[in-house]
Amino acid sequence: MTISQATASVCSISGIKSNRQTTASSNTKKEIYLPGTDCAIKTQVYLSGYTSYRVGGPAEWYVAPRNLKSLRASIEYAKTYKLPITVLGAGSNLLVSDRGIPGLVVVTRHLRHRQFNPETGQLTVAAGESIPGLAWEAAGLGWVGLEWAVGIPGTVGGAVVMNAGAHSSCIADILVSAQVLSPDGTLETLTPSELGYKYRTSNLQGGASIVTQATFQLQPGMAPEQLLAITKEHKSHRLSTQPYDKPSCGSVFRNPKPHGAGWLIEQTGLKGFQIGNAQVAQRHANFIVNCGGASAGDIFSLIRHIQHQVQEQWSIWLEPEVKMIGEFPAMG
Ligand SMILES: Cc1cc2nc3c(=O)[nH]c(=O)nc-3n(C[C@H](O)[C@H](O)[C@H](O)COP(=O)(O)OP(=O)(O)OC[C@H]3O[C@@H](n4cnc5c(N)ncnc54)[C@H](O)[C@@H]3O)c2cc1C
Repeated sequence: MTISQATASVCSISGIKSNRQTTASSNTKKEIYLPGTDCAIKTQVYLSGYTSYRVGGPAEWYVAPRNLKSLRASIEYAKTYKLPITVLGAGSNLLVSDRGIPGLVVVTRHLRHRQFNPETGQLTVAAGESIPGLAWEAAGLGWVGLEWAVGIPGTVGGAVVMNAGAHSSCIADILVSAQVLSPDGTLETLTPSELGYKYRTSNLQGGASIVTQATFQLQPGMAPEQLLAITKEHKSHRLSTQPYDKPSCGSVFRNPKPHGAGWLIEQTGLKGFQIGNAQVAQRHANFIVNCGGASAGDIFSLIRHIQHQVQEQWSIWLEPEVKMIGEFPAMG
């Protein structure tokens, strides 16, 4: 199906001339194939199935491209219909509103390929590859450099954007370059200094470019059994100190140095505090867990409650690390 056929199909939903309005009012379930691809854009896909919190309303439009060609076609489609784009990796650092997300949600987790180059020790991977999966694979080969990342349940793209880190290491330490697709369709290769890395942030955050691929520098040559043992130890440490048994987004707040956010929340007496089915985790107070059936609204209200309580007791306003997308009451 071509874009112009797609136009006809979309327009028939409401018969309104403006592209933005026609797509916005498309409540009927619909699938539109992008020209020259086997990739379909769908309407009204619930995002609770695509976030680690297991909450989130529908994407107005949803697409999960499997290759660069389909990704480009998706962006072209959004441009044609003036749809804002939201990118989701594994959705492990996101709180998506119960009202969902307007525009096109691009889920990158099906962008897959990985190549270990034994001559250079470089690992080149597509944005949708799983970070813990790569950590295990690199450990099995005896390639040092990703063992710290085994407990971070995100994609390569999300990790590059967030500068994900643990055990005193982070993505910025191993990134050689990231390939990004800009809204005008050009592919650029950016170095860590161009990405402006700081603690859990990069200048890709809040931008319109999409990470498509990354190259990491690893160090081959360690005995795989030894590296697998270190990786396993990191995973066990996480399992024993953090609540991996319930849906969460990991740490909710940034650490307001010199304090740890978890310590402040615990000292404020909030461990176990619950709003609806969202609870401050018993095992780690900087985690909010979904005890089953929580809404994004419950989690958001709990975030606000924690901020106000900590502010009252410590005069510190905790800044969320979790990205909130969609409609929420104004923060503050
Ligand atoms: C149990 C648990 C433990 C965690 N532990 C840690 C930890 O130790 N350290 C840590 O740093 N994080 C941790 N996290 C948080 C999370 O896993 C990381 O932030 C991760 O890097 C997010 O990756 P993602 O693919 O899920 O990104 P998402 O959550 O899907 O997205 C995060 C942000 O990146 C953007 N994005 C995602 N992919 C792309 C792309 N390809 N191009 C452009 N933008 C993109 C999104 O728009 C969004 O703004 C944890 C989460 C959980 C649930």
